[in-house]
Amino acid sequence: MIKGFRGTSLVDYPGKISAVIFFGGCNFRCPFCYNIDLVLPERLKELPELDIDHILTELKRRKGFISGVVITGGEPTLHSRLLRALLERIKAELNLPVKLDTNGSQPEVINSLIKENLVDFIAIDFKTAPERYPEIRGDFNKIEQTLSLVRGQVPFEIRITAVPYFISFKELEALVPFMHGAERVAIQRFMNEYERLNPEIDLGVYGPEDLKEFKSFLEGKIDVPVVLRNV
Ligand code: SF4
Repeated sequence: MIKGFRGTSLVDYPGKISAVIFFGGCNFRCPFCYNIDLVLPERLKELPELDIDHILTELKRRKGFISGVVITGGEPTLHSRLLRALLERIKAELNLPVKLDTNGSQPEVINSLIKENLVDFIAIDFKTAPERYPEIRGDFNKIEQTLSLVRGQVPFEIRITAVPYFISFKELEALVPFMHGAERVAIQRFMNEYERLNPEIDLGVYGPEDLKEFKSFLEGKIDVPVVLRNV
């Protein structure tokens, strides 16, 4: 289900002015989730549903101004038929590059989108160390499968939101073996300024110096460029 549309963004598709399409629903439950309205079923049903025709009309109005489309969520790959139908129309009617933001939990869906040339760039989140994925209702084996499908097929970045409760040097070290092949690793500062799924968990906040230390740490271990965001 499509639950949101932003006509213009300068930050969601690196190097491009993009429109952003939000899919509702998610199979993970990250306590630091930035958009619980798109995750919790009782909140989701309060948001109006947007159909593909409406989205295409909005995109066409911006033709010549936007240079890409970002598909985000929630988790868009949970709605594989709708997602494929939307992407087919974007490609056929606008031929714009598409970036997909995903938690990486649906390798089969990603595989079919790659095979059909429907995505041009993928951003995959690393939430915490592989063994801690059950804490967010995830399974890192699926993320590993997604990475092996994407590598060498479509450019991708790995995004890490630096939440102290879930990310420290220990967790980063555990994630290092899975970073190869990415265009970049982007470490994003967690601001803890919005309503959260589990307010009882003290997630903490890092300062800019902490993030710089994480960047240096990773640069000493991987050949992939590391960038900081929202610092
Ligand atoms: S995967 Fe993303 S949308 Fe889903 S709960 Fe986690 S942060 Fe929220």
